[in-house]
Parts: sequence; structure tokens; C-alpha cells
Amino acid sequence: MRREQFVKECYRLRDNQDYGLSQHILSSVKGYRAKDNDKLPVLWLETSDSGDNNISFMNTSYPYLGQVFDEMIDLLYSNTFMAAQGRDAVDILNRVARYQKGEFTLVVEGAIPTKANGLYNIVIETEREKITALEVVKWLGGLAKYVVTIGTCASFGGPSAAKPNITGGVAVSEVLDREIIKVSGCPVNAEWFVGTLAHLLMYGQPEVDELGRPTLFYGYTIHRHCQRRSYFDRGNFAESLGDIECMFSQGCVGPKTYADCPYRQWINESWPIEANTPCIGCTNPDFPDGSTPFFTPLPEKRNEELGKRGQRGGEGE
Ligand code: SF4
Repeated sequence: MRREQFVKECYRLRDNQDYGLSQHILSSVKGYRAKDNDKLPVLWLETSDSGDNNISFMNTSYPYLGQVFDEMIDLLYSNTFMAAQGRDAVDILNRVARYQKGEFTLVVEGAIPTKANGLYNIVIETEREKITALEVVKWLGGLAKYVVTIGTCASFGGPSAAKPNITGGVAVSEVLDREIIKVSGCPVNAEWFVGTLAHLLMYGQPEVDELGRPTLFYGYTIHRHCQRRSYFDRGNFAESLGDIECMFSQGCVGPKTYADCPYRQWINESWPIEANTPCIGCTNPDFPDGSTPFFTPLPEKRNEELGKRGQRGGEGE
């Protein structure tokens, strides 16, 4: 399948409301790899976050986790998933840095603490030294073919950089001067991440928006495709959580949040607004500070306190 066909297929699946995108991606990947193509070599570094993104990833349904590992990626290092520890683990990083320079994909999950020279987040400890996430990301980020941030902490700072941010946590892009593919979300939807990996494997860099997120998954606002949009348009707002009307009155930030949750859903089951809770804007560059207080209507949130982590507007987009 050519890249244009792949992208067209993704949109066709969406328009036909056949949302199991990854299931279709997998068959394309199998066809691609049948021609003796290698899997995508991946180093996955978890830094300062809650671990929610790897849990979400483990819940990928089509393809299943085992299929992702068997068919798509060669996970060479992950301080969360792998069995190797200590010197054996460090040796893997050194080997990849030496022999697979410019070939591997670096996945970073979590913000990067910068205060005290990054000492708030030690990711490697040897007999001789302690190595921080800040050092490892700069080291491997400069050698990788692609850098992918998974989750909002790595992509934009997220909860790890929320006030009062005592560790000086920042997005990966603030410590690494290179192109970064940002797959944000708190947690990320497994299909956004698996779909991005599939695109990298078969076609390379996906098209991204001005914030660096793949447009395949972050092209429109939640508000645009929300099932409660007709209530919004008629000015019918919920008086309390649990009401069936539009939840703009209950703090929903769907109008400024770019993601395809209304039709992709989560594990093919449901999504926040269907489950009667407002969208809290977890894919946004100003999340969570720009979304709080969560249950206060958008115009009344304290957005003037956001500082430089601004937001992309777009009600109705
Ligand atoms: S404000 Fe929220 S609940 Fe209302 S239509 Fe937009 S996304 Fe849906």
C-alpha cells in the first residue's frame, strides 16, 4: 500500500465509522514486512510521568500488544517493559548508540526535570555515576532517526510540569533541538501511538500540525464531532453532571481540544463525554493548568495564568 493510499484508507475508515484503525494498519504492516523489511527498532525511555501511557499502550486491542512486538517494533530497551537490569540494560543503550545510530526511534514517555541539573529524575545508576533523564534524552535524541513523545508530559510538560513544578519539568522539545513527533494525551490513546509507529515503519514521518502532532489523529476538535454538538448549537446546556445536554456549562474544553476521541473512542468502548464527564483537554499544550478548575465553564477558567505554554484556539473547528 502506498502512503497516499494508507492515509486515504485511514480517512475512509473514519468516515465509514469503522474505527478499528489499527486492525487495518496491522494487515498493511504484515504486507510491508513480508517483503523482508525489518521491524522498527525502538528505545523507550520513561522519565517523569505516572506510567499511564505504557498502561494505555498495553491495552491496545487491534493489534494486540504481542502483535505490536511481533510484527511492528523491535523494542530494544524500555526501563518499564524489559527484563534486563543493571549493567546489561546500560550495555543495550551503548550498543544501540554505537551501532544503530540514525536507525532507531527514541520514544520518550514523561517530562524532563531540569532543576538541579536534572537530578530529580535519575534513569540509570551505575557503580560510578548517576545519569539523569536530561542527559540520556540529549544523548540518544541526537542519535535517533525519529524522536516520538508519548503522552502530554513528554509532548508539552503536562501534569509533571504543572504548578508549582518543583522539578522544573519541561517538554522534550525544550531540551532537544530537533524535529519531534508529539503523540499527546493523558494518557495517550493506544491507537494514536500504534498508528504513528506504523506510519514511521512504512512511510516515515507523518504529517503533523503546528504543534508537532500527527494530523491523522489530532486534525479536528472534540467539539466538531461531539455527539452533544446539536445541544450546544441550540444553547441547551447541562445543569449538572449526568444530564444529557452539552457539558460546556460543566467545564467541557472540547471546543479548544484537538483529538479524534468522539469517533475513535477508547479501546473501542466509550469516551469521556459518552461516559457523562466533560472533556478536560488532556491533549492540549496547556493541560492541566489551562483546563482547571475542571468543572468550571471555559470562559471562567483562569487561562490568563497559563504563561508561555499557550493554546491553539478554534471553537467550532
Ligand atoms: S462543549 Fe463539550 S459537550 Fe458540548 S458539544 Fe462541545 S465537546 Fe460536546
